[in-house]
Amino acid sequence: GKPVCECNMCYGGNDCSQLLPDCMVDADSGDPTFLEPFWMKNAASSAIVVAGWHRMSYDFSDGSLISEELKAHIRKIHASVGNAITDGKYIIFGAGATHLLNAAVHALSSNNASSSPAKVVASIPYYPVYKEQTEFFKSEDYKFNGDTSMWKNDTSNSTFIELVTSPNNPDGDMKKAILQGQFVKTIHDLAYYWPHFTPITAPADEDLMIFTLSKLTGHAGSRFGWAIIKDEAVYKRMLTYMDFSTYGVSRETQLRVLKLLKVALSGNGRAMYEFGYNTMKNRWTKLSKVLSQSKTFSTQKLKPQYCSFSQQIRTPSPGTFPVQISAFASLKCDTSVLEDRSCYEVLEEANITGREGSLFGADNHHVRLSLVRSEDDFDLLLRQINKLVSVESHDK
Ligand code: PMP
Repeated sequence: GKPVCECNMCYGGNDCSQLLPDCMVDADSGDPTFLEPFWMKNAASSAIVVAGWHRMSYDFSDGSLISEELKAHIRKIHASVGNAITDGKYIIFGAGATHLLNAAVHALSSNNASSSPAKVVASIPYYPVYKEQTEFFKSEDYKFNGDTSMWKNDTSNSTFIELVTSPNNPDGDMKKAILQGQFVKTIHDLAYYWPHFTPITAPADEDLMIFTLSKLTGHAGSRFGWAIIKDEAVYKRMLTYMDFSTYGVSRETQLRVLKLLKVALSGNGRAMYEFGYNTMKNRWTKLSKVLSQSKTFSTQKLKPQYCSFSQQIRTPSPGTFPVQISAFASLKCDTSVLEDRSCYEVLEEANITGREGSLFGADNHHVRLSLVRSEDDFDLLLRQINKLVSVESHDK
């Protein structure tokens, strides 16, 4: 049987089949292993073999550290999903969106006309890495300046870099840029703008857009992301950043990504998204059903929207209400249940580890629960939430 160390934390025994009664359920990280079964089904067609002599050189061809073939496939993926316009724009690769985010902040702040550092802002609740990364690098060119809304009427004296996450992590909200003005620049983090996480409403056509393989195919460990950039000068500054930080993304990674994208584009180019969407839809259906019985726990409500991608394959049956989907559930605890605890602590006592709302700049009523993990993780999460909700109805 499988060695014990490979068991999910909630299973034990020689073959990991024993469900442990009081285990902690991990709903913390957004590790997108929900797509693993799709890649298992496509194991042969997605495999690569790299001979020892292959791609030994520093470069591919033109000094952009980038495989032209892969770039072309990224443009094809966006065209087939209809989630971003790439025509006439530059594309750059990075070791995940994490790498590109800082490259972009660097590029947008380094020719800053004013003497004070550019203000990096994001609207609450925001992805915590924006703040952590910006503060970590302690640059003279930029500083993290908190919640976007504080600067709404005050953009005239400084350069601003607004990070816009759409759909948002942690709540799936389709965020739009808030700040306006001559010195405002935006970075659109579109990591979750794919049909398995959200309706595709229109192709995004922003100045600087960041995507990641982590959330498209689920291969977070490959460390691959890309930015789509309108302005040549910004592109060149990002390229310089890549030159000096890593001299580009591993050529083996680029080969693997190319293979994965070919599978995603194969057939009618929809199988991966259908698998992903159906998985997310099933999970949301089950979660919503349980929470509909609760007066204490609720999740964010997302507006149903027309998805230009899926309408070609799914005709929603008339009269049925579309199920909301999002990579994360932003769970809210009612004040009545808190009793001096945070919602995070309430869940922790019920053996669920989420991610605290305060990390996203939100209040202690909120906890982010990851719904993109494996099926086992989700089933265990649902079991614990079920327990919480049934205790609640017995109390009355
Ligand atoms: N942006 C957002 C909004 C994310 O949620 C994540 C991953 N959780 C990232 C960027 C980073 O992704 P990557 O794995 O590509 O570094």
